[in-house]
Amino acid sequence: MTFSSSPSHLLLRLRPLLIPLCDSIINHPSNSRGHAIYFINHIKVPTVLQINTAHPTPLYHQASDFTLSQAKSLSLESQTLEFVNGKPFILLKWPGSDPSLSSILLNSHTDVVPVEQDKWVHPPFDAHIDSQGNIYARGSQDTKSIGLQCLEAIRRLKASGFRPIRSVYVSFVPDEQIGGRDGAQKFAESDVFRDLNVGIVLEEGLTSPDKNYKAFYAERCPWGLVIKATGAPGHGAKLYDNTAMENLLKSIESVRRLRASHFDLVKAGLKAESEVVSVNMVFLKAGTPSPTGFVMNLQPSEAEAGFDFKEKDPVLDKFGRLVIMATDSSNPWWKLLEIAVRKANGKLDKPQINIGTTDARYFRVQGLPAIGFSPMANTPILIHDHNELLNKAEYLKGIHIYESIIKAYASYAKDERSGSSKDEFFCMQHELMISSATSSPTRTDPILKMMLCTYMTISTNFDVFPNSNSFFLRKAHHTEGNRQFLAVIS
Ligand SMILES: [Zn+2]
Repeated sequence: MTFSSSPSHLLLRLRPLLIPLCDSIINHPSNSRGHAIYFINHIKVPTVLQINTAHPTPLYHQASDFTLSQAKSLSLESQTLEFVNGKPFILLKWPGSDPSLSSILLNSHTDVVPVEQDKWVHPPFDAHIDSQGNIYARGSQDTKSIGLQCLEAIRRLKASGFRPIRSVYVSFVPDEQIGGRDGAQKFAESDVFRDLNVGIVLEEGLTSPDKNYKAFYAERCPWGLVIKATGAPGHGAKLYDNTAMENLLKSIESVRRLRASHFDLVKAGLKAESEVVSVNMVFLKAGTPSPTGFVMNLQPSEAEAGFDFKEKDPVLDKFGRLVIMATDSSNPWWKLLEIAVRKANGKLDKPQINIGTTDARYFRVQGLPAIGFSPMANTPILIHDHNELLNKAEYLKGIHIYESIIKAYASYAKDERSGSSKDEFFCMQHELMISSATSSPTRTDPILKMMLCTYMTISTNFDVFPNSNSFFLRKAHHTEGNRQFLAVIS
């Protein structure tokens, strides 16, 4: 047997001991709750935040082991599912006393986006806590914190003697950051999910820079748009028309104009960010590589640009209807959320459409109400940014908020579906209408407008809406969700 004198190795060795110790302190009635929670914060949050689950090589199994150890300490039932090999999905259950009632699902994701390590003031997987109580870590906002806050809320509720009427499920899904198709989508479409009889899903939302919490009833429809331009190759010194780079630049300029026209509305205060189209270039792929960089005396024959594109309209369900959840008294879950947050000394902002995309859409397209909510107020939005952080005080307040919400939801004894369908929770609007071969679009669909604009810039002779093209758009929209759409400009 060998021993390491390094403090980090010592901590690793002590970790299995520290977690049960931590639990015994919490459960020990002679200790104040404040001290116990402080201890949780210092031991548990850094523990999961220190597991690198960034793409492209997330350490899913390490994160799952951590979650399962927490579930065990809470005496929750647990299942590890793998819809896709190597991508574990943890599902925990706190059984309710009335299994005939629909259940509650609290969902968060285990994976995080990559980091540029050298641009952080503290290493992104050290979970460093500074003197103000800020915990710096990738995932501290998006969304490792949420999963832990839910578990800590359950720990407190259990300690208080609370017994849920409805079953409470907590899920930790993989792959949200890369589209969720191998995670939440497979789960939401599975028999396992159907058998849970979920009535409401609580999903991630956004942090709030002010004191009010934000809750989201819908989110904009996502597209990954790739424009690939082709052209004749030639000498780097030659001036001629129809090069791939020139073609691509014209397309980028069209997209940029579309972006500016929408962003201007936001800057002028006329629209919220969630009420406009957003489009941002996220990659450029062009040039002929050389050992020292790129060949300088050659104009390439192909160039590509990728865009993260969000329509201002929300996602559609499997019937092609816009999925917008009601936020008035017709939806008991929204009302219960408002009351529960208030009871925990918080306040909700007015209901909003999320500017980003989350796994909530996979549950909403199944016809289920899903609320996007991250209990993190007074926190700058640093999701996917350098130096993502969460203050210890906000983390602890969030646990209290979840405690109140879980209590309210799990005690709600009315069968919310008696005599009505789940459709009542939604304001079903119009179907997406895309033109047939000869007519113009019946709805001013932004992507069609953008494509029109893009194609017009390149070639006025281009047939913008041939039958196959409009059909493809419709199909892509309905069945492929946020799959990439490839536009070839030549
Ligand atoms: Zn997220």
